[in-house]
Amino acid sequence: MIELTTATAIENAIKKARTVKPRVRVNCFGSYTVTNKQTGATYTVECLKRDGKRFAHCSCEAGKRGRACYHLAAAVAAHIQLAADKQAAH
Ligand SMILES: [Zn+2]
Repeated sequence: MIELTTATAIENAIKKARTVKPRVRVNCFGSYTVTNKQTGATYTVECLKRDGKRFAHCSCEAGKRGRACYHLAAAVAAHIQLAADKQAAH
């Protein structure tokens, strides 16, 4: 589980996500399945808010060690978009 503070903290992961372009499927708001189209590997990324802080977790090896991986970055990008859409709908 890593805390999402600033975009710079996951900047490298975001860059990698832009290169790899994994597929992100929305399970529900806050839960995403990220697939590496090259290898077919899928991971689950969860985004949550606790005490006003945002956290995210990925089920891959890097994620388990608390590192920001590109799966997490890709899912967080989708999550932010989804959250913005939700707000716009109200
Ligand atoms: Zn990951």
